[in-house]
Amino acid sequence: LTTTQNPTATQTPPSAPTFSVSNPATGEVVAQVPKLDDAGVAALVDRARAAQPAWAEAGFKERAGLMLDLRSWLVHERRKVAQALMDEGGKTFEDALVEITYTCEALGFWARQAQRCLRDERMRPTTPLLFGRSVVVRWAPRGVIGVIAPWNYPLVLGFGDAIPALMAGNGVVLKPSSVTPLSSQAVIEDGMPAVGFPRDVCLLATGPGHTGSALVDSADMIMFTGSTEVGKGIAQRAAQRLIPVSLELGGKDPMIVLSDADLHRAVEVAVTGGLMNSGQTCMSVERIYVEEPVYDDFVKIMADKVSSLRMGPPASPGTVDIGSMTGPGQSEIVDAHVRDAVQKGARVLTGGRRRDGSGDFYEPTVLVDVDHSMACMTEETFGPTLPVMKVRDAEEALRLANDSPYGLNSSVFTRDLDRGEQIARRIDAGNACVNDALTNYFELRAPFGGWKQSGLGGRHGEEGIRKYCKAQTVLVTRFAPPRDPLGYPRTRVTSKLLEATLVMLYGRRRRRR
Ligand code: NAD
Repeated sequence: LTTTQNPTATQTPPSAPTFSVSNPATGEVVAQVPKLDDAGVAALVDRARAAQPAWAEAGFKERAGLMLDLRSWLVHERRKVAQALMDEGGKTFEDALVEITYTCEALGFWARQAQRCLRDERMRPTTPLLFGRSVVVRWAPRGVIGVIAPWNYPLVLGFGDAIPALMAGNGVVLKPSSVTPLSSQAVIEDGMPAVGFPRDVCLLATGPGHTGSALVDSADMIMFTGSTEVGKGIAQRAAQRLIPVSLELGGKDPMIVLSDADLHRAVEVAVTGGLMNSGQTCMSVERIYVEEPVYDDFVKIMADKVSSLRMGPPASPGTVDIGSMTGPGQSEIVDAHVRDAVQKGARVLTGGRRRDGSGDFYEPTVLVDVDHSMACMTEETFGPTLPVMKVRDAEEALRLANDSPYGLNSSVFTRDLDRGEQIARRIDAGNACVNDALTNYFELRAPFGGWKQSGLGGRHGEEGIRKYCKAQTVLVTRFAPPRDPLGYPRTRVTSKLLEATLVMLYGRRRRRR
């Protein structure tokens, strides 16, 4: 393998078009980044495609070693990478650390588990029809995977998918959001060459949505994380080339709090789960249903806690709880949801407005007296709002929790763990937690995927790496009769034999008790 001595990716001439990246917490432009057009993306995919066979040939051990080296680099350079995440996203130091921690976890997990998930499966045939044969299923890399990521968690949602794709022996072209390309740039252009990744196996395609479309037109598979609307468009475009897509899309995750719950724990989780990364988490707690007897207490504890949070531009560790909004125009959506709720009778207990001055900040907000006529309970808000609705009982909470086009994550709070699990199983979502939220994402062995409009396919688990492969089934005939029962010419004897075999194998009636 030829290793890279210098930056791999977007080696664009100085005259090539660029776009600017701004820090949303200050409004300052922090970088200029290449803006790739169709030809630029196609050239990157060609380079990754040329590098991929040797990468696949290198084997799991070699790739795993590089992943572990990249993890060490990431830990060593954590402050630098965290700064890039803070600069591009306006997120707090702690929210940046969450991203780095998950990425380290993913690097180690897939380094250890990829070979197990993708080893050849030899099987003895399950049917006497294949007497004398053996079958082996193997997992071949697809080629070049296009990973398209959103702006809310650039590392988690870019590298979280690029790592298993690479471990499976694919090349990767990663397109980060044009809002947040800097952290991905640091890992691909600084980290990977520094630890000896081979040239061109993982390249960076920076640019707007159009750059993503060009990737859909040239890669062998698309792993997309982002909005449901864009995801549907990508699926349609990919269908023209008949390439697979895996989609992780929007959510409107419900939390149900039963009257026997530990309220302090429930509030703690709701506030972290709802406000982490300024509420811009696909699986953040977006709506809360609380049983009547404990509703007032829950709301009071929550309002007290939320009103004490410190919001401001990301600074040194431990100084700020809530950073800025990241997505351009996201504050307007949040504000529209709050205004809509208030107009329809909701009350704001704390927060409820954009902060004046420089930077794009929205105050962490608790809304009560909400219902499903309001956008804050039915549409993805993707901001620091915690709308809390009073419900009669668990059945009403379940009905409302399932009254959504989305089905990503969900949670139930109760001291009765069996009941909690039963209720969790009745929520129409790909993921459900009892007495927790978000943390399930760290179990990389379990599949994570959205139901309904929240996605197609999933990440994590065996499927999280096998999807980057083509399954090939190889059948080997070890011994066979001199004459094939279906061979030509067909005779009365062979036909009778076939018929008798059919009756013998499947003709017995099922015994009824
Ligand atoms: P987005 O859909 O606007 O953009 C996502 C990515 O797609 C960006 O890189 C963007 O440049 C690119 N893109 C835009 N148009 C494209 C096109 N036509 N063809 C190809 N690529 C295109 O999403 P966003 O605003 O960056 O992120 C927020 C959304 O992502 C929210 O809806 C959130 O719920 C969702 N999300 C889902 C998950 C999950 O795991 N299910 C995780 C995080 C975010």
